[in-house]
Amino acid sequence: MHVIILGAPGSGKGTQSAEIIKEFALKHLSTGDMLRAEIAAETELGLAAKSVIDAGELVSDDIILGMVSSKMENTDKGMLFDGFPRTIAQAEGLDKLLAAKNSEITHVIQLDVNNEEIVERMLARGRADDNEETIRNRLSVFEAQTAPLIDYYRAQNKLSTVLGSGNIEDIFKRIQTVLAS
Ligand code: AMP
Repeated sequence: MHVIILGAPGSGKGTQSAEIIKEFALKHLSTGDMLRAEIAAETELGLAAKSVIDAGELVSDDIILGMVSSKMENTDKGMLFDGFPRTIAQAEGLDKLLAAKNSEITHVIQLDVNNEEIVERMLARGRADDNEETIRNRLSVFEAQTAPLIDYYRAQNKLSTVLGSGNIEDIFKRIQTVLAS
């Protein structure tokens, strides 16, 4: 089982991912967490990515696919992709990485939350890249570059849309229903 959790920034992907990996014993691959670890370790990649992240733009597909590919080596576990793919090029790259393991994405969970709730949640979260201007930019980057993935996975019959508002437990129950089927 290989799962993608797809949703706008602030839609609750990270929170729900923590629940999903516990219940379904998946390996959590969060590109946002990987990038924040690179920044904290002050690596060359981290230094190059920081200004892009702070502006709410996307890090290049090559860098992202390189990071993900190295994390996918030497594991036979099912994976949960969180915050990745974010572009069609990344989705195609991921399809190839999985095909090389004779595998494929089995489920795509789209967390659906309205924009007003997202802005509220992100301002409450207070992360370094969570100021109002960056949030607005990240939402428009999501619409332009990531939302097309909804159709990409719908066309493959892999997409399940889950209502992402309400309390954490209720949202998780909806996800569980999808993944258990
Ligand atoms: P996240 O924690 O997923 O919200 O990611 C935080 C920031 O890291 C994003 O706003 C992007 O700048 C960058 N980022 C994370 N994942 C990706 C990705 N798959 N492709 C490009 N940029 C990414």
